[in-house]
Amino acid sequence: MEEIVEVLVDTLLAGPEYQTFCKCKKCRNDVVALSLNNIPPQYATTQQNRERVYELYSKPDMRKWLNKRIISALHVVNKYPKHNI
Ligand SMILES: [Zn+2]
Repeated sequence: MEEIVEVLVDTLLAGPEYQTFCKCKKCRNDVVALSLNNIPPQYATTQQNRERVYELYSKPDMRKWLNKRIISALHVVNKYPKHNI
């Protein structure tokens, strides 16, 4: 789950909509952590499970659902960054 969220966060941050957002490591990690708080964990203990989880979260509906949670986390971190500028 964490790996999937990290990839999605990086993809979103690289996109044109989030150019003004802070992309430092701290904010990026905060976004990942905050997103994961809003997403039920998926533990993949075997390679087979791993592939199943990936497959599940590759479905367009799940992607949309995940992105929605990540985007709300992005806005929270952007509004209240933990570091001083
Ligand atoms: Zn930052």
